[in-house]
Amino acid sequence: MGAHEEEAGGEEYLFKIVLIGDSAVGKSNLLSRFARDEFDNNSKATIGVEFQTQCVEIDGKEVKAQIWDTAGQERFRAVTSAYYRGAVGALIVYDITRRSSFDSIKRWLDELTTHCDTTLTRMLVGNKCDLENIRDVSVEEGKSLAEEEGLFFLETSALESTNVQTTFEIVIREIYNNVSRKAL
Ligand code: GDP
Ligand code: MG
Repeated sequence: MGAHEEEAGGEEYLFKIVLIGDSAVGKSNLLSRFARDEFDNNSKATIGVEFQTQCVEIDGKEVKAQIWDTAGQERFRAVTSAYYRGAVGALIVYDITRRSSFDSIKRWLDELTTHCDTTLTRMLVGNKCDLENIRDVSVEEGKSLAEEEGLFFLETSALESTNVQTTFEIVIREIYNNVSRKAL
């Protein structure tokens, strides 16, 4: 995965992107907002979903993003290496109202270092930015961690649909750019 193959109708791109981060930060809802424009308060409904494929057009080319959701695996601190295998992009998500989820980011980055290629495109995502009144992590903290670690960064709200599309598009475009640069 992540490679592109020649087909009769031209090139086809398939990128595996993984969602990681502590339990309940909003990973499943970010994916359902992006893929189906849905928000689901009952998170149980999305347990069991392995991945969703979403088509995006970049420079006139059809790009398929295969986005993987942990489906609750992280609750048991058991995201398997199979989950990461072949990933070319990762969204590392925390909840801006829960500091412990932000403190976990380093641990999730270590996981990526262990399991993924160094060329992986990584984006830090501070979700639930609609809950400004109970914010526990400032925008600046998110930004500076991202700068330190060389990550893209945005705050999102899966609930209000803020920056969700943009977040996925940034990652997909960056992966696309890396692949097409390599192909030159
Ligand atoms: P996951 O465990 O990381 O997959 O998190 P879920 O997507 O299941 O969401 C966990 C909880 O947070 C659910 O009750 C969601 O309704 C809620 N949630 C997710 N995203 C947002 C958001 O952007 N804003 C608010 N206010 N709640 C959210
Ligand atoms: Mg989930």
